[in-house]
Amino acid sequence: MTAPVLVVRGLVAGYGGVPIVHGLDLHVDEGEVVVLLGANGAGKSTTLLTISGLLPALGGEIRYDGRDVAVSGRRRRRRAAAHAAGLARSGLVHVPEDRGLFADLTVADHLRLTRRTDRSPSEAEVLDRFPALRELRGRRAGLLSGGEQQMLAVARALLAGPRVLMVDELSLGLAPMVVDALLPMLRAVADDLGVGVLLVEQHVRMALAVADRAVLLRRGRVVLAGAAAELTDQLAAVEAGYLGDA
Ligand code: ATP
Repeated sequence: MTAPVLVVRGLVAGYGGVPIVHGLDLHVDEGEVVVLLGANGAGKSTTLLTISGLLPALGGEIRYDGRDVAVSGRRRRRRAAAHAAGLARSGLVHVPEDRGLFADLTVADHLRLTRRTDRSPSEAEVLDRFPALRELRGRRAGLLSGGEQQMLAVARALLAGPRVLMVDELSLGLAPMVVDALLPMLRAVADDLGVGVLLVEQHVRMALAVADRAVLLRRGRVVLAGAAAELTDQLAAVEAGYLGDA
């Protein structure tokens, strides 16, 4: 039996008090991959930023590991960063859309500087999942390919010992072939380590192929949710969720 490690209920999220996401419900179980789908601007990144504590929630509940971790009200940027860092230490780890890497630091530097917890696997275990990175230890992140940068971003997140790993657009700027190789690595993280993975992804078919469940957002509202296999059968409806106003 798996248990939900992240439960979001009625989440209202946005900027400066203006809601972008309206009453979102989702949950992620241990060892499960859930994908958040939707067109540009649907509110996917806003959702992840709010779950990770970087943005205050305007309403609703975010329960991680059984406790309510939603940040409400106006929170100054520094305090928000400290709160998010605390959540990350407790295992709610976010790989942001910009990958959070430092161009002048090498792969080895990034791995060395990642804050470990008592849940953290060893660096060798992490590199076993990304053998390409082993060869690139001395290379500066700014010189890595987009796919290698994503591997490094995910490797760092794994070193932090996540229980929930949120990855925002792994595929951003990458060729479909590279995405096709990277997404199964996240599936393996869920299967092998029992990590709950919450993925934001634009490549609908590829994402549904590795996910257990999917949630489709349109203009900040859930318009479809269910087992990935079922949504694959309703691909036309899913893709319609990316278009127009209907
Ligand atoms: P994409 O796939 O393009 O990243 P998304 O679904 O992740 O899309 P969000 O980034 O969550 O969408 O953006 C949702 C809406 O919130 C957009 O209309 C965007 O313009 C707006 N938005 C994003 N960041 C801010 C901000 N800092 N201040 C105000 N509005 C913002």
